[in-house]
Amino acid sequence: MSDQLLTQLTQELLHYQEPKRERSNWIYISEIKECIRKQYYAINNTEPDTDRIPNFEKAKFTMAYGNLFETYLTQLLDRLKIPWKKHRIENEELHLHGETDPIIKYHDKEIILEAKGIHQRQFDLLYGNAKLNIPPDAYYSQLQAYLYMHPQADYGAFIIGNRNMNPQDKGPPFFLQEIQRDKLWYDVNFQEPDGRIPKLNLFLDTHQLPPREFDNRTKAPCSYCIFNRRCWEKDV
Ligand code: SF4
Repeated sequence: MSDQLLTQLTQELLHYQEPKRERSNWIYISEIKECIRKQYYAINNTEPDTDRIPNFEKAKFTMAYGNLFETYLTQLLDRLKIPWKKHRIENEELHLHGETDPIIKYHDKEIILEAKGIHQRQFDLLYGNAKLNIPPDAYYSQLQAYLYMHPQADYGAFIIGNRNMNPQDKGPPFFLQEIQRDKLWYDVNFQEPDGRIPKLNLFLDTHQLPPREFDNRTKAPCSYCIFNRRCWEKDV
């Protein structure tokens, strides 16, 4: 029975087809730091390389863990009676959309939380021994975009969870980091003509494939990109 159940679960995980995203030229806020060419492929519903589909499907497992962490966070907020809501964010002019993690009211402040579950090595590097306290660029960009598109919020905060925590580990399982609005970030990415968003919008509007943002297909992020073959062998 257990073999059969395991097979069924694995098949379901690997072959479940999510409904096609209705993107129609909209850019996901959570992806704005990804390769512009990759975003262009995804927004146009380009089929991923067939040999990459299993990796792509397995990545859903990691995403599911992330969603569980966010769900757990909302349960903690409920138990603490801290009011929260989620907010759908859309900006027609920039063709950007996304959905925040819980926005809480705390000590009369409205705070956009962004929950991330990261693995031990990354957690140690960012918040552990090295104490760099610098969030990854992609996380920072996502939260800054939310802060600008939801001006009612006073500030943002990352709640970073250690995905591989075990009971022997010292230190807390979460790390909280407050983030203020960074106007310079906004101007550089959204307002300047060669900012990422105006640039990507131009490629989408004119149906032109953007150039590659990276020059080595065997190194990250190309090495795990689901459009690697298409990008390097077809669209040369
Ligand atoms: S293979 Fe590299 S350059 Fe090509 S779309 Fe993917 S990340 Fe971008």
